[in-house]
Amino acid sequence: MARSVLVTGGNRGIGLAIARDLAARGDKVAVTHRGSGAPDDLLGVQADITDAEQVDAAFSEVEKHQGAVEVLVSNAGITDDTLLMRMEEDQFTQVVDANLAGAYRVAKRAARGMLRAKWGRMVFISSVVGLTGGAGQVNYAASKAGLVGMARSITRELGSRNITANVVAPGFVVTDMTDALSEEQRAAALDRIPAGRYAEPGEVASAVNFLASDEAAYINGAVLPVDGGLGMGH
Ligand code: NDP
Repeated sequence: MARSVLVTGGNRGIGLAIARDLAARGDKVAVTHRGSGAPDDLLGVQADITDAEQVDAAFSEVEKHQGAVEVLVSNAGITDDTLLMRMEEDQFTQVVDANLAGAYRVAKRAARGMLRAKWGRMVFISSVVGLTGGAGQVNYAASKAGLVGMARSITRELGSRNITANVVAPGFVVTDMTDALSEEQRAAALDRIPAGRYAEPGEVASAVNFLASDEAAYINGAVLPVDGGLGMGH
């Protein structure tokens, strides 16, 4: 059965790969964008996830076109890296507002329809850095670690209603976000990855697709690394 899916930040990068993967499975897939539009094969809805009203309006639009969201992929995220001693308070709060509070806003809005349907799948895109920490990423790592506590709390609240909330923790993935890294950062990262390479966005999408499937009904509050072994042991 075609399910109603919403992927935040699904207009590009990992989100787009996730959206296309779920669409290929036969789902009706909507993606958020912040004004740049979305590829023609997907339903684009405009929303900045730091704004609860925009989130609400985007969900209403999705509901109108493809029904209440049954599968939510909370993927939108930003980085604003700098060392702790140089990090301004707004650099911290803005990253947490987008990555963590943004996920809370979409999860809360999605839960309404999932509770009514007595079925739902939430997948939060975290990062290996949320588990291991990362120099220069106090804000980002805190926001990504927060997703684990959030998903596990949602699991405790909604787990008995056939709703799962899981976390995918990618390592380095080939996207605009990692394109921004310096050659030096790139080489240092490659040295630490047992797989010896970055992930393709589709490799993250496969993990999300599985967690969103019926077969994953008994997997709840889990953290699934997709990191080529980079974060092993966490
Ligand atoms: P990109 O920078 O390529 O894309 C980020 C996406 O998030 C864009 O669609 C962007 O929308 C959207 N976005 C950012 N802020 C907001 C906001 N306030 N409201 C709505 N949408 C927003 O990132 P990736 O594809 O690389 O990353 C996707 C997710 O995966 C992120 O959460 C990231 O932290 C995580 N991740 C990425 C890794 C990597 O190596 N690339 C590794 C581990 C985790 P717009 O187009 O409008 O800017």
